[in-house]
Amino acid sequence: MSQTESYDAIVVGAGPAGAAFTLHAQRLGLRVLLLDKARFPRDKTCGDALSGRSVVELDRLDLLPAVRSLPGAPIRRLVFGSPAGDTVSVALTPPARPGQPRAAATAAEGYVVPRLHFDNLLFCRAQAAAYRCESGLTVHDLEWQDGRATGVRGVNSRGEAVRFRGRVVIGADGFSSVVARRAGLYAHDPQHWMVALRCYYEGVAGLDDQIELHFVDEVLPGYLWLFPAGQGRANVGIGMNHADLKRHGVDLRQALARALALPRFAARMAAARPLERPVGWNLPVGSRRRPAVGEGLMLIGDAAGLIDPFTGEGIGNSLLSARLAADTAFQACQADNVSAGFLRRYEDTVWAALGGELNTSTRMHRLAHRRWLVNLVIRRAARRPEISAAISAMLLDPDDRRRLLDLRFYLGLLFG
Ligand SMILES: Cc1cc2nc3c(=O)[nH]c(=O)nc-3n(C[C@H](O)[C@H](O)[C@H](O)COP(=O)(O)OP(=O)(O)OC[C@H]3O[C@@H](n4cnc5c(N)ncnc54)[C@H](O)[C@@H]3O)c2cc1C
Repeated sequence: MSQTESYDAIVVGAGPAGAAFTLHAQRLGLRVLLLDKARFPRDKTCGDALSGRSVVELDRLDLLPAVRSLPGAPIRRLVFGSPAGDTVSVALTPPARPGQPRAAATAAEGYVVPRLHFDNLLFCRAQAAAYRCESGLTVHDLEWQDGRATGVRGVNSRGEAVRFRGRVVIGADGFSSVVARRAGLYAHDPQHWMVALRCYYEGVAGLDDQIELHFVDEVLPGYLWLFPAGQGRANVGIGMNHADLKRHGVDLRQALARALALPRFAARMAAARPLERPVGWNLPVGSRRRPAVGEGLMLIGDAAGLIDPFTGEGIGNSLLSARLAADTAFQACQADNVSAGFLRRYEDTVWAALGGELNTSTRMHRLAHRRWLVNLVIRRAARRPEISAAISAMLLDPDDRRRLLDLRFYLGLLFG
């Protein structure tokens, strides 16, 4: 087993969270070792949608021009479909506000960029920013000293056992995080976990500059998605809460096939051809606060379970958690203190930033169990432009989004 030099931070996983951590940490002057078991470019099962927070965080990393030039599709509208088959199209473009800060000005942009390309861009940038980067290296365990994580152990691409020492370990290794497991922080509860299938298609008709979420009976309150993925392709998928899936005995492959065969999609799918067998993966949602720090370590992105429970979006929150963890790692190195007590400020800051929004989304997800309510909102919004404009504003502004939980909003729909 080879023993190598020591680093300020060892980052396990070079997906969006690990790559963004590395970029922020490099700006702060930290020596980062970045490790990933995969070799890039690699695929990641995803809807590939980058909206709202993803765009804002990418802008902070000066990555937007590069992201815009990747294969994919710009998004200007969101389309919601109800179980009854009504649809409403909501514009993503907010009214121009003079003097708006740069980050807020980009929040209404959206893109769908296949993760094969998106993650490769982030990985290449992070590779260049890291003090050292190794792909094809699988981390199997943490190294400990006096109850504190001091490094990682794994096997490199040549099959050799390797170990590294670092002042702080960052678990950016996704849903099945080995860092979270070894630190005793891994806890997946079916109530706080979604499963979803993705299938790339070509030849889906009617996909332009919109992403479409259709609340279909097959997976309610989950949804079927149809996203343009550029180059004549579509990212099509379906997902739902794991506990609901078990309770109703749903087979997601059959649910996807049945949903796409609904009369409302039949014409659009008539010339469509799948480019793969549907592939599934897990979404750890932030409908409860999970511990994200331990002695000498922090979890970011999916390893910390920060996906939006209503929309299923996780990239933006991964990027944000990476930025906040890099700030804390910098402070911890300055203070020479990587105790869980010191690192807790990272977890507190993440939940201060995201907790309210994740709570709203959790409650919206619960509301969406009521089929009649989803039908009512989408039917009324489809017929009244002022309602779809209000929903657009609420979706773009997390603070405004809380109005979607206000009973008065629904009474207005019923009697307004
Ligand atoms: C079907 C589906 C659809 C989704 N759609 C969207 C969407 O449209 N928009 C959106 O914003 N979010 C979406 N999400 C969520 C999004 O994919 C995740 O939130 C996001 O990928 C989290 O990034 P991450 O960097 O934390 O983890 P990941 O992207 O999972 O990256 C983890 C990295 O860690 C590496 N790794 C894992 N274990 C080890 C190990 N032991 N040693 C070394 N390396 C390791 C992996 O190879 C990988 O590169 C979707 C998720 C699913 C499953």
